[in-house]
Amino acid sequence: MRAPKDQHFLIDKHAVRRIAGLIDLKDRTVLEIGPGEGVLTRELLDRGARVNAVEIDPDLVEELEIVFEDEIAVGTLRLQCGDAIRCELPPFDVVVSNLPYSASSKITFRLLAIGFDEAILMYQAEFASRMMAPAGTPACGRLSIMVQTYCSVQRCFDLPPQAFSPKPQVRSTVVRMIPRGPLFRIADQDRYADVVRALFTHRRKTVRNCLRTSAGILSPDTAEKIIAALPDEILSSRPETLYLEDFATISNLAAE
Ligand code: SAM
Repeated sequence: MRAPKDQHFLIDKHAVRRIAGLIDLKDRTVLEIGPGEGVLTRELLDRGARVNAVEIDPDLVEELEIVFEDEIAVGTLRLQCGDAIRCELPPFDVVVSNLPYSASSKITFRLLAIGFDEAILMYQAEFASRMMAPAGTPACGRLSIMVQTYCSVQRCFDLPPQAFSPKPQVRSTVVRMIPRGPLFRIADQDRYADVVRALFTHRRKTVRNCLRTSAGILSPDTAEKIIAALPDEILSSRPETLYLEDFATISNLAAE
C-alpha cells in the first residue's frame, strides 16, 4: 500500500549521519521540509544547526512538539504545520530535506525562486537523474534547465529502499545544490523562465512550433519576434537538443 503523503521514514542511522555530514551546519538556519518523525531533525540539531521545519501532517507535528519540547523551548527548533508548496516558509540559509517525492518538483522550483546558500536534498533516484540530465540530452526538461542555469548540482550518494520504513518502491538519491550566477548572460530572468517553460510545454514539437503555441506564456508578438531572429537550425530542432546557452540566446531575443 502507498504510504500517505510520501511518508517513508529514514531508518538507516548511518545514512542520516552521512546526509547531515554533507554540509557545514554551524550557525546555519536550516529549512527542513517534511521532518516526519524527526530523525534527520535530531541529527541537524545535534550538529549545531538551528532548524525551521515545515511538516504537512498535523499528527506528526503534534508528536514532534512532544519529542522536541526542549529544543522548541530554547528556540533552536521552530516547527510549522503547513504545505511547503504554498505556505509561507520560515527564514533559512540552507535546506536539508528528505523531500516528499510527489512534491519534489514544485518544492524545488519554489526553493530556486526564493534562493538559498546550499541545499542537500533527497529525491527519487530517477527524478534526480532527470534533474541532472545535461541540456542537449533526451532526459533533460524544464527543471533540469532551470536548476542547471542557477546552480551547480552534484550527486552525493544513492540509498536503497531498505533505508526507509515503509520501503518505497524506488531508490533514492541525495543531491547537493549550490546556487551560482548563470553561465551565460540572461537579460531578464522572468522572461528566461517563461521561454524555458514555453519550450518544454510540448517537448516533442520543434522550437518554432513550441513558440507558436506558447500563448498564455509568451505573447504572439514576442513569439514571432523570437522566430524572426533565430536561425532555422535552432527553429527546426527540438528543445531537448538545445544547449544551455541556446535558452539564454532565445530569451534574450525576447527581452531586447
Ligand atoms: N524527514 C523524514 C525522514 O527522513 O525520515 C521524513 C521524510 S518523508 C520522505 C517526507 C515527509 O514530508 C513526511 O513526513 C510527509 O508527511 C511530509 N510531507 C509530504 N508532503 C509535504 C508537503 N507538501 N509539505 C510539507 N511536508 C510534506
